[in-house]
Amino acid sequence: MLSPAVTGESQLVPLDAANQSSGSGSPLFGLNQQALAARMAAIGEPGWRGKQLAEAIYRQRLTDLNEITTLPKPLRRRMAAEGWQVGRPAIVQVFQSVDGTERYLVKAGEQTVETVWMPEGDDGEAGDGSGSDGPPTLGAPGPSHLGTRDSDESQPGTGHHSTGAVGGNRSRATICVSSQVGCAVNCQFCLTAKLGLQRNLTAGEIAGQVISVFDRHAVEVGRDRVNLVFMGMGEPFLNYANFMAAVRLLVEEVGLSPRRMTVSTSGIVPGIERFAQESAEVRPKLAISLNAPNDRIREEIMPINRKWPIEAVMDSVRQVQLRPRERITFEYVLLAGVTDQPEHAVEVARLVRRTGLPAKVNLIVWNPGPGIAYSMPLPEAVETFRLTLAGEGIPTYLRKPRGRDIYAACGQLKRTVEG
Ligand code: SAH
Ligand code: SF4
Repeated sequence: MLSPAVTGESQLVPLDAANQSSGSGSPLFGLNQQALAARMAAIGEPGWRGKQLAEAIYRQRLTDLNEITTLPKPLRRRMAAEGWQVGRPAIVQVFQSVDGTERYLVKAGEQTVETVWMPEGDDGEAGDGSGSDGPPTLGAPGPSHLGTRDSDESQPGTGHHSTGAVGGNRSRATICVSSQVGCAVNCQFCLTAKLGLQRNLTAGEIAGQVISVFDRHAVEVGRDRVNLVFMGMGEPFLNYANFMAAVRLLVEEVGLSPRRMTVSTSGIVPGIERFAQESAEVRPKLAISLNAPNDRIREEIMPINRKWPIEAVMDSVRQVQLRPRERITFEYVLLAGVTDQPEHAVEVARLVRRTGLPAKVNLIVWNPGPGIAYSMPLPEAVETFRLTLAGEGIPTYLRKPRGRDIYAACGQLKRTVEG
């Protein structure tokens, strides 16, 4: 059974500043321009100070009120004295992988959540009409978990430990963002599931992960077209309001395009239905963690399938009005002997075709974790699966495992409580 938290949702609505008239130590980061203006109005300041604050914290990425020189000094002093603070979540620990990937622990109240920076992405966002397309994996080199070097891993300008700007290819970096501390969904193959749900992140804590990483890598919005994937810890659609509020902040206040953002869900049907109502101006692209060829196997590895089986998920996905060239992504974790057989690939192809949707499949080689009784698929099985699916005419990509040595890869985001 799902834990009760699966059906609930946070009542936290951090964008509503109407009844919070003063600083009182609560963070400004996470409030949109209107809410910031309301805060300023409440202390007798003109509303346009909200625009100045938004500009300072989201565009200039200032974290100290005293640095916001567009505000008069006496006002800054007063705000500081009254306990106002920017309160952007800070990176408190960095793990660097030999492949250039960085995993961060980002402070969220008493806890930390994990965020990952992949300087060259993981190919998961390729082929989706976002402009960062690489070729499908048809005929591409074998899976890189063998230690095979990926053909494009030698991009010029991207050193192993990137410290400065985004690097040679400015449109491939990807940031993987968390939406909850832990997760309630209980997928049997996922390490995050082991934590259970600890709590929902606020909009500021979700958007703050992105801005802190931008800051660290001197990302210039407009010049560097970084991809965001909401595929870190947690189920974004079980923290829907805060997740979408964060997306709106990133689009409206930071200036990012929702076409460079992808949200992944395990198939929370009411969340997908709500998502389908969002305007194209702010709606990220959608990825569904399919992970199995049929309900029987999916139920076994994703208990949530009992509540929302594959057909129900597909019905809700069909409600999303896709933009030109946009495709739905189906993620598919390959578990040895469980989901990696050639006949599974044929079934997946049939399933995807039946949706009638423009779609692609991202294959993910399962990343092992302590206490999880699955095994990694053999490289030959991965290759056969990939070729079978592609041979059935389904655009198929193999997600490159990034930062495995620092536990940054999919489903390895767990170590939250250690920070
Ligand atoms: N909760 C959301 C987003 C976070 S999980 C979701 O489930 O979609 C992001 C992706 O990582 C999902 O597609 C999930 O199936 C995959 N994943 C989870 N654990 C994994 C593991 N151990 N190895 C490989 N992929 C994993
Ligand atoms: Fe939660 Fe996604 Fe992990 Fe499932 S795969 S337990 S939904 S984080």
